[in-house]
Amino acid sequence: MYPAPFTYFRASSVSEAVNLLVENPDAKLLAGGHSLIPAMKLRLSTPSALIDIRRIPELSGIREEGDRIVIGATTIYDDIMRNELVQRTLPILPEALNVVGDLQVRNMGTIGGSLAHADPAADLPAVVLALNAELKAVGPNGERTIPADQFFVDLFTTALEPTEVLTAISFPKPAPRTGMSYQKFANPASGYAVVGVAAVVTLGADGKVSAARVAVTGAGPYAVRRQAVENALIGQEPTADVIKQAASQASEGMTFNSDIFASEEYRAHLTRVLTERAVSRAVERARSA
Ligand SMILES: Cc1cc2nc3c(=O)[nH]c(=O)nc-3n(C[C@H](O)[C@H](O)[C@H](O)COP(=O)(O)OP(=O)(O)OC[C@H]3O[C@@H](n4cnc5c(N)ncnc54)[C@H](O)[C@@H]3O)c2cc1C
Repeated sequence: MYPAPFTYFRASSVSEAVNLLVENPDAKLLAGGHSLIPAMKLRLSTPSALIDIRRIPELSGIREEGDRIVIGATTIYDDIMRNELVQRTLPILPEALNVVGDLQVRNMGTIGGSLAHADPAADLPAVVLALNAELKAVGPNGERTIPADQFFVDLFTTALEPTEVLTAISFPKPAPRTGMSYQKFANPASGYAVVGVAAVVTLGADGKVSAARVAVTGAGPYAVRRQAVENALIGQEPTADVIKQAASQASEGMTFNSDIFASEEYRAHLTRVLTERAVSRAVERARSA
């Protein structure tokens, strides 16, 4: 099906994009277009205008800013996966992006587009939660920083205002002896996450867990952290039994989706299994870091 008619704008700066959003209340920003255009073709989304932000130079690229790594919102997945700084410091990003869609999706999809879209089955929301990222947004009232913990609000809903542009994602550099892992059970047809779990674990000099962040995507309406699992790990020596016990709490108190692909019970089961795998792999990597 063809999309409903719309006006096309190409913004050359973030401020121009914000002004266009203010002037066109039904408009949508266009990044990689790999979620928005299919939705428009199905007429699930009928924006009056598209504001193309792909050619705004300041929105793209990866840079080091002191103790943080900052990735511009329109940076495509493939550029993130191939970046040496990201591979060395945030290896969970290439690990997760490697299982996103196919080559074409990875050459068009953008980190900002994925996070702003907040598809319940997207991979990156769990990863930015586990990495304790901050999201930078610019709107008519200037710039603000949104912690990843406050960004995902509901199904396809984020803390972004309709007139805000997500400009960058800022990650703290991990502490020494930190390991990380993303484990996904992919839908065999679409490749999206039926459930995906991201874990980032830091070990102290005594070999015990000094910090842990675990987040789940795909399972429920939006990606969430699993603090009960984190608390069960922190201060403990991460033996196989401790990790199993912690992971057994991963599905407690969660709301699970149920659809033709997986029941609530199956998603709850996958959440526990993938949490155990992600934490175990993160601990292994922390030990050899
Ligand atoms: C065949 C196929 C397979 C896929 N498989 C996977 C998968 O396995 N895992 C996965 O996670 N994803 C998958 N995707 C989705 C893909 O990752 C999309 O590219 C991504 O969800 C959206 O990014 P985009 O840059 O294409 O955004 P767009 O489609 O351009 O935009 C999506 C939404 O975000 C808004 N938006 C975009 N950028 C910004 C910004 N900077 N600020 C504010 N709002 C913004 C847009 O207005 C729109 O509402 C798949 C897509 C396809 C087509």
